[in-house]
Amino acid sequence: MVRWAWRRWQGAWRRWSLWTLLVALVAAMLVTVVWLAGRYEASVVQSQLERDTADAVADLRTALARNLQNIQALQGLAPGGSQWQVQAGALLREHRELVGIEWRDRALNVQAQAQSPFFPTRGERGNSDGAHSDTALACANAGRLSGAAYSSSYFQPQGAGLGVEMMELCLPLSTAGRAGGYLVVTYSLQNMLTELVGHNLTRRQEVSFTEADGTRLAMVGAARRGTRMFTAQQLLDLPGNTLVLRLDGWHAAPSLFPNVLTALVTAMSIALVTVVAMLVRDNRRRLSAERELGDALAFRKAMEDSLVTGLRARDLQGRITYVNPAFCEMVGFSPAELLGQSSQAPYWPPELAEEYWHRQAVRLAGTAPPREGFDSVFMRKDGTRFPVLIIEAPLINAVGQHTGWMSAFIDISEQRRVEELSRASQERLQATARLATVGEMASLLSHELNQPLAAISSYATGTLNLLEVGPGSDSAALQAGLQDARTAMQRIAHQAERAGRVIKSVHDFVRRRDQAREAVPAQELLGDVLPLVHLQARKLGVRVQVALEPGLQPVLCDRIMVEQVLLNLTRNAMQAMDDPAIAVRVLDIRVRRAGSNAHSGWLEFSVADCGSGITDDTARQLFTPFFTTRPEGMGLGLSLCRTVVEQHGGFLGYGPHTPRGTVFTFTLPFARPAPETH
Ligand code: ADP
Repeated sequence: MVRWAWRRWQGAWRRWSLWTLLVALVAAMLVTVVWLAGRYEASVVQSQLERDTADAVADLRTALARNLQNIQALQGLAPGGSQWQVQAGALLREHRELVGIEWRDRALNVQAQAQSPFFPTRGERGNSDGAHSDTALACANAGRLSGAAYSSSYFQPQGAGLGVEMMELCLPLSTAGRAGGYLVVTYSLQNMLTELVGHNLTRRQEVSFTEADGTRLAMVGAARRGTRMFTAQQLLDLPGNTLVLRLDGWHAAPSLFPNVLTALVTAMSIALVTVVAMLVRDNRRRLSAERELGDALAFRKAMEDSLVTGLRARDLQGRITYVNPAFCEMVGFSPAELLGQSSQAPYWPPELAEEYWHRQAVRLAGTAPPREGFDSVFMRKDGTRFPVLIIEAPLINAVGQHTGWMSAFIDISEQRRVEELSRASQERLQATARLATVGEMASLLSHELNQPLAAISSYATGTLNLLEVGPGSDSAALQAGLQDARTAMQRIAHQAERAGRVIKSVHDFVRRRDQAREAVPAQELLGDVLPLVHLQARKLGVRVQVALEPGLQPVLCDRIMVEQVLLNLTRNAMQAMDDPAIAVRVLDIRVRRAGSNAHSGWLEFSVADCGSGITDDTARQLFTPFFTTRPEGMGLGLSLCRTVVEQHGGFLGYGPHTPRGTVFTFTLPFARPAPETH
């Protein structure tokens, strides 16, 4: 028991840990997938930003190079001349990122200058300030490189606390191979971003120039829109200066499902989890169904094992497919010896095997057995026979198909024994009742025998007298005497025969034990009883009337028992009239068809008297054995009568008789159905 519980616990634990592991794995996978998808999304945005930054840097580089070419074009013009001014002014109008162009001599003094109309004021850092350190540095660089050089950026205040970040480009001028001054071009970093970087970039994100420490020098671009910031920066290295271009993209997507792919994967994962959950539920249901099935099976098994009724199932070929323990115990064979048997079953008595074969063939042909079952005889393994009651029913499977026959067997040996005992005691009781009747009749017998005996005695005396003939008698007198003696002897013989008949009727009644039911005409039944009835009737001064309907069929009955019933009823009737107050004593016996229907299959006997009738008190116990109102009575008569009539399927009843007395009636079945009468 403990081991079983341990194993069950182990199984449950293993199952649960497996399920937990599965759920944990699915959850981990889901989280990883969402996280990876998020990261992928971020990396896509980031690389786009990197590309944009590279594009922006390339844009700037190209534009700066083009500007440099335009500025170089100014070299050929006479500095400070009107032509130069026009060209420089046009350049400044065309390129808004340019703030101003100065022509400076080798000492960096401003010789000529043109100012962008978009930057009207350049503040105090005027053209006189030739020694501006950034410009000087840039021009020194330019001189060294003999090419364009940029200065580092500087802040140009514009009043009211505002200002712009500027950067200068210094281009050394050479006239006829001799260094002859510089062209200094001032760039506005802010306008560089606005003008030189593609608008599609600045529209979507924030573009700025920053210093190495991240300080923003100039910035254009969209305001912050998302919650997560992506940043990319790239160096714009110019001769003499290196700027950091930074792009900040704001992305509104740190949400759970950044894109369709993630949403799809998540949805599939959720579907997977749902399916797993459904599987778990289904599994749990299956487990509980299995448990219930197991319980039901165990219950059925326990029920079958505890049954005292034997059960046996056969398939449509007659093979035994199932036997329960009670059946095995009944016949003494083990299930292994019985299962699969289709030929002669080992519990069939050999002498009856043929009959059983026939019965099995009828059953297999599909003929339904009687519902109430039938009796049969089986043989145990030790060869003893025993009676069984078999109840058979078709086996119908779950889809309504007839798959065989199920039979229930009840060992009725004990029942038979009890029946036998009760039949024997019933017989003994009836014999006792008959003997009691005979005892009662003994007095009647002596009274009845008195007459023939007295007659015999007087005839014998007369004959003796005749035999005492004197020697002198003549032959004629002798002849007459002999004739008289013969007549007397004949009378004696007649009387003796009569006495013998009286004794024989009583003897027959007591001795006859033939039990078989036979077809007996009603007249014969009455004929057997009437001599005895008359005996008593004569003694009690009762007149016996018998009325028999003509053309009656014989009745199917146990002759002796029915005669006993008739005798009991007539005797009771005559005893009821044995009262000095009753002057008219008539016993009326009638036999006719029961009911008004000529086709009725029953014959009705009625025995009516003019006696005292039956009081309510007596009626209550009338059929109770040993109830009697007579001192010499046994109280068995009526209870036996009812038993006998009911055994024949009939009915015994009584009622008042007019003008007085009681009438007892009982019915018996006809041997054959009544013939049709038209
Ligand atoms: P027993 O004749 O030995 O008394 P029964 O069972 O035949 O036993 O009858 C029981 C009682 O029923 C009788 O004692 C009698 O009182 C009453 N009884 C039977 N038949 C009649 C009848 N025809 N009229 C009146 N009483 C009757």
